[in-house]
Amino acid sequence: MDVASVEFRSAVQSAAALIRRARYAIALTGAGISTPSGIPDFRSPGSGLWTRYDPMEVASLSVFRYHPEKFFAWMRPLALEIVQAEPNPAHLGLARLEEAGYLRAIITQNIDGLHHRAGSTRVLEVHGSLRTLTCIGCYQQFDSTGYIEPYLESGEIPRCPDCHSILKPDVVLFEEQLPIRVWLEAQEESRRCDLMIVGGSSLEVMPAAGLPMHVVENEAALILINQSPTYIDERADVVLRGDIATIIPALVVEVLGE
Ligand code: ZN
Repeated sequence: MDVASVEFRSAVQSAAALIRRARYAIALTGAGISTPSGIPDFRSPGSGLWTRYDPMEVASLSVFRYHPEKFFAWMRPLALEIVQAEPNPAHLGLARLEEAGYLRAIITQNIDGLHHRAGSTRVLEVHGSLRTLTCIGCYQQFDSTGYIEPYLESGEIPRCPDCHSILKPDVVLFEEQLPIRVWLEAQEESRRCDLMIVGGSSLEVMPAAGLPMHVVENEAALILINQSPTYIDERADVVLRGDIATIIPALVVEVLGE
């Protein structure tokens, strides 16, 4: 979609009208919102990390249990990109919508913490985040600060200061359950909202990809912003195709009337 086209302008205006009218709007975001920040999309063909590595060989719970060094070696370049990345105009735009009272929550599939860093306060990270680590021996949780730097610099595997067991980043691995409280809250938000803005997710990774179905079942409004088609495009009120870091700021300007 050409951002200068009449078609694009009118789609942005329709989406903005839905946002202004909504009583309880939420957003669901995926890898596509963080690619403009330089974080690789795990699953995009060619460049995706999963196409270069078999995820079950590096990022599954069983690999973590039996060969944690494989997981930590694979995770290191990704963790480095995440630590160095900055929120982009799409993250900042959603934070402004929350601040202005138009957005109640963000459900994200991303583990990069960029929504928090952009200033969003209500973020449900259904695949966890790198901001905390949990000891696999005594289950204490630690802030990543102080552990992540030595790991990034030397590859040193973080260990519990009390029991010396390995500290597992609180990200959801393959074969692992989603964090249950966060997931139940995400489902609840998807059921109660009257508008969901899906941004940068091709809606392929279950179960998060199923959340917009609650929206459709409740006849709530749905806005999709993504580079490629999704399974639910035909049920959406507005589909905005293209660069999310351009589209969300355009939407914010239209909503806030700047
Ligand atoms: Zn411990």
